[in-house]
Amino acid sequence: MKKTFYLTTTLPYVNARPHIGHAVEYVRADVLARYKKEEGYDVFFNTGSDEHGQKIYEGAMSEGISPQEYVDRNTENFKFLLSALGMSDDIHFIRTTDDKHIIAAKELWRRVKNNGYIYKKKYKSKYCVGCELEKTDSELIDNKCPDHPNLEIKLIDEENYFFKFSAFQAKLLDLYANNKNFVIPDFRQKEIENFVKSGLNDFSISRLSYKMPWGIPVPDDHEHVIYVWFDALTSYISTLGWPTDNDNFSKYWVNGNPTQYCGQDNLRQQSAMWQAMLIAANLPNSKRIIINGFVTGDGGIKMSKTVGNVIDPMSLQEYYGTDSVRYYLLRHIHPWEGSSVTYNSFYQAYNSHLVNGLGNLVSRLLTLSEKYLDKIVPNFGNIPEEYTDAMENFRYDIACDCIWDLISKIDKEISETEPFKLIKDEPEKAKKLLRNYVTRLYLIGVMLRPIMPRTSMVILSSIEENKKPSIMFERKPVASF
Ligand SMILES: [Zn+2]
Repeated sequence: MKKTFYLTTTLPYVNARPHIGHAVEYVRADVLARYKKEEGYDVFFNTGSDEHGQKIYEGAMSEGISPQEYVDRNTENFKFLLSALGMSDDIHFIRTTDDKHIIAAKELWRRVKNNGYIYKKKYKSKYCVGCELEKTDSELIDNKCPDHPNLEIKLIDEENYFFKFSAFQAKLLDLYANNKNFVIPDFRQKEIENFVKSGLNDFSISRLSYKMPWGIPVPDDHEHVIYVWFDALTSYISTLGWPTDNDNFSKYWVNGNPTQYCGQDNLRQQSAMWQAMLIAANLPNSKRIIINGFVTGDGGIKMSKTVGNVIDPMSLQEYYGTDSVRYYLLRHIHPWEGSSVTYNSFYQAYNSHLVNGLGNLVSRLLTLSEKYLDKIVPNFGNIPEEYTDAMENFRYDIACDCIWDLISKIDKEISETEPFKLIKDEPEKAKKLLRNYVTRLYLIGVMLRPIMPRTSMVILSSIEENKKPSIMFERKPVASF
């Protein structure tokens, strides 16, 4: 029996176009999925789309189309980005409008209700539709959510169902205490511990269906629809066919160390709310939550159309190609800290590390190899520990540093030893040097496999066939998108 591994991204709301934050999360998760496969795991890799809720409903109404038409159309943009980023072919895609998801969301509700953690109450609250979270006055500035200053805070005054989140403080604190690396990075685990320590408020999990009909009906009470988190978060197990497909659930969720990627604005939802919901339904917790930092425009300014600093991942891919975008997102955006991105920094990285760095080395070395060496499949030896450590710790930026250090080193050695001159007077010595460089280039190809899969394939097969490939990274003029 193969060891199993479960991995999911969050499911983006499909009320807007995909942005660079989605691209970062997709690519990082894809590297992990590919790396685990190479380690011999049977991997279940999931993503999908969150298609219910107020924002979707309002978006469809404002365009005068049905919510279903609206989500069908918008979901395609996300699927398009996944393929543009060269994601693993076997990735699963769950939509919260899929039948199997609807069955799962209702069943999770029933179980949590039967265990006594769902109740009904009349309440008033301030709600940010941008965050899909209730807000206390202290979290608002001038009665606006600081993260969504363009949205009006909604006043909710109705009878809704509530989840008894407050009952899970001790259990969540136990979960964090017993799993030191439950949330990655460390400072995010501390942040969520402090949040839970400060006391938990029950949160509402339904809406009146006559006001917001676009949702899954509450079991046994069709005047209400299940609202947001009890719907969306269930997708991580509905994708496995839970509750009907017990084999799959046990194989990948119970025994697959379920690992979740998300952005820092999802810390509470993934590492506290979802975990409490799982405990409330007597289901095992996730194993690990990895929290990405925010990506901003130049100078740390939030990307927005008004400021004009939005970096569109699709235009980058169209101009520079899939693997160049993967490279940039993985190496030049810090995994946990906030990072700023500009078209210019992308251009610089592309030129110096891909055109002049990797691309140039491959072409230079394989020209010589094709001319002077026999065809061999190199025995590349061991993968450096520094690289493996970085991969195990989700530091794909450091793994890339390790690869590009090796590229510079080989470049430098070729310039110093000049095998292209040496070949005339001391051919055996020159060939020995070349073989050494080609072998190390092969190792680079192996290390690039999860990071830049197509590039890796070109490098490895060119060495195996001893044939120089066509130009891998075209020199390009500065683009104005
Ligand atoms: Zn908000």
